[in-house]
Amino acid sequence: MLALAGGVGGAKLALGLARVLPADRLTVVVNTGDDEVFHGLHVSPDLDTVMYTLAGLANPETGWGLAGDTFNSLAMLRQLGSDAWFNLGDRDLATHIRRTQLLNQGVTLSQVTASLSRALGVDHGIIPMSDDPVRTVVATNEGDLPMQEYFVKRQAEPVATGISYCGAQSAEPSPGFVDAINQANRLVLCPSNPSLSLGPILAVNGVRRHLETFNGLRVAVSPIVAGAALRGPAVKIMAELGEDPSCLGVARQYAGICDYFLIDHQDASLAPAIEDLGMAVVVASIIMSTEYDKVALAQEILDLPGVVA
Ligand code: GDP
Ligand code: CA
Repeated sequence: MLALAGGVGGAKLALGLARVLPADRLTVVVNTGDDEVFHGLHVSPDLDTVMYTLAGLANPETGWGLAGDTFNSLAMLRQLGSDAWFNLGDRDLATHIRRTQLLNQGVTLSQVTASLSRALGVDHGIIPMSDDPVRTVVATNEGDLPMQEYFVKRQAEPVATGISYCGAQSAEPSPGFVDAINQANRLVLCPSNPSLSLGPILAVNGVRRHLETFNGLRVAVSPIVAGAALRGPAVKIMAELGEDPSCLGVARQYAGICDYFLIDHQDASLAPAIEDLGMAVVVASIIMSTEYDKVALAQEILDLPGVVA
């Protein structure tokens, strides 16, 4: 199975999938359009969220960062005059230091991620979408903002007028991503932000085309339930960009690369409109609060019949 994921929402389902599939049956490909250099360190927020989650180290309250981490280094940086607006915990910083060291030695981001994951005891494959830099930029009424500046520094308050994935067209999918596309017989689009998390992955050179002809079943889980994002700005952005701020709007973005679209019971009335897009709708419980919910949803995806009726 090949799962495509952003950060917190993607990591929830990735954890469920990792609980029901052995390591050699699951590859999680993660968005790197949010990657940013802070204090000279290469930070990959979504890769780290997925890695910490699968390692059992994630902060359960935020979904990102390490459980029990402290922020003394950041406080000291601020005291020293640094504009440290991106939250980096003291132990979390070690990940970014190590990643940066290895990248500076000429190791690819895929290899770095494999090394960090192994060291944290993660058996399942976590792979960046590309080893080449891609930068998600949100065009807003305050000008162009790189993803973290828009999302964290400006708290997603500016009005979005467009989204671009700089570098995506010339970025090659990472070697592990290419292998997974060729070998997997099931694709899962995790419930991540469609434009900010899965959009960059789909924009990497050739990816969307390969998924259109993917040799297997393609399943997407809506990140939106009853017209609301469970967290984050997905609905706000969709509305600002003139899209339907609902699971139907998400489904439109996945038309042509999705066979089964999972929506929540609360959205059952939208099923016919989604089926008109050429995908089968499965109404399910897609809100994952507990680990039990994550495993149950993963199992439901595995149990889907291999051929769409
Ligand atoms: P980010 O990179 O940390 O912002 O994370 P993602 O893009 O992977 O996930 C954000 C999306 O996950 C939001 O649009 C949320 O609505 C969605 N999400 C969060 N929790 C859940 C959940 O339990 N179920 C579903 N279906 N979506 C969720
Ligand atoms: Ca993210």
